[in-house]
Amino acid sequence: MLKIFNTAKNKKIDFIPINKDEVTMYVCGPTVYDYIHIGNARPIIVFDVLYRLLSSIYPSVKYVRNITDIDDKINSKALQNNETIFELTKRTENQFIKDYKDLNAIKPDIEPRATEHIDEMIEMIQQLIENKNAYEAKKHVLFRVKSWDKYGKFANKSYDEQEHGARVEVADYKQDPADFVLWKPSSDDEPSWDSPWGKGRPGWHIECSAMVKKHLGENFDIHGGGLDLIFPHHQNEIAQSCCANKSDKFANYWMHNGFLMSEGQKMSKSLGNFYTINELLNEFSGNAIRLVLLSTHYRKPLDFTKSKLIEAENLINKLSDFINKNKNEKQDENIDEFKNALCDDLNTPLAISIMWKYQKENQIGKLLKSIELLGFDIKNSDKSQIPQEIKELAEKRNQAKIEKNFAESDKIRNKIKQLGYEIKDTPNGYEINKI
Ligand SMILES: [Zn+2]
Repeated sequence: MLKIFNTAKNKKIDFIPINKDEVTMYVCGPTVYDYIHIGNARPIIVFDVLYRLLSSIYPSVKYVRNITDIDDKINSKALQNNETIFELTKRTENQFIKDYKDLNAIKPDIEPRATEHIDEMIEMIQQLIENKNAYEAKKHVLFRVKSWDKYGKFANKSYDEQEHGARVEVADYKQDPADFVLWKPSSDDEPSWDSPWGKGRPGWHIECSAMVKKHLGENFDIHGGGLDLIFPHHQNEIAQSCCANKSDKFANYWMHNGFLMSEGQKMSKSLGNFYTINELLNEFSGNAIRLVLLSTHYRKPLDFTKSKLIEAENLINKLSDFINKNKNEKQDENIDEFKNALCDDLNTPLAISIMWKYQKENQIGKLLKSIELLGFDIKNSDKSQIPQEIKELAEKRNQAKIEKNFAESDKIRNKIKQLGYEIKDTPNGYEINKI
């Protein structure tokens, strides 16, 4: 029996899906304005393992992870880079897909983009206005927090603890400092869509509520994300969805991964402990990064260090050698002990220790099955052996392909081939293999 710590109930409980034939799961995805860093990778890996585990238990799992491609951070970054918003989001999204693929994370079933769901957001906002949970003021639409008496319950924050406008000046269009934006006007150089309230763009929180409803319906099984999203993002998602749908139900189980520190401190560019996945993958394999992230239980704070990564790479290399030497032996594949660890609120540290035990006991069948559920791609564990020159050429070829310069991309592909490697395009990006 799978047990999950449900943030909404603040305890570990049995997981009972709404429909046992298809489990539904939504995870808040990245805002595509910059490369993802090691902190962003944590929920990707954690919920990838959950997805694999659920898929091993239930006949079908529908996993939705959104891409936020409209946000103020995107607008300012595009301006700073002197590129269009579309160029920035497309480039960053491609890099994101490449990064999670290199981390061996399975592509979610649906990866909806916010900009492709503006109609659904407008519809939901209209519903909220109709239900008197939202109001229009000076071309903005705001959610009226006091219209819903359950607001704050999920995040366990009373009205006074919500810190709205405590330190910042409260905008004059708000009826109450706690009210949050559903729609806002855009200036001429910002992206905008027509709406009943004039040209503008959605607030961040409404994006997830609208995409959840479109792809998973009003009530679904699991909603995941980082601890930092509980307030205000997830609290606001719940308020919007419950009020628009006139329902008490939204996600039945809420799962949140803990914070990530880097080299013992909060990650920051000035401290030199800010690692993008793209950078780390130049030096280390996706398997090693995965092993470090999964070696701490997902709800605990994690201290990521390069020395842990070096150690993990060694362990993965040894594991890979062991498997290459022993892979043909057929053995018992019963991994109940291992699976029970994962079913206990995704206890990956315990599951990993059982995996090492299988290796020690020479239980190849069990070892291979446990490796698969944790998502290690042992075939690719020699990825770090691919020369930097080849990686750079492959990236150049990918850029040429994105720019539809096919003559150039073919030329680079041939060059890579002459150097003894081949590029394979997949739905998730490209792969480099030795010929
Ligand atoms: Zn979200």
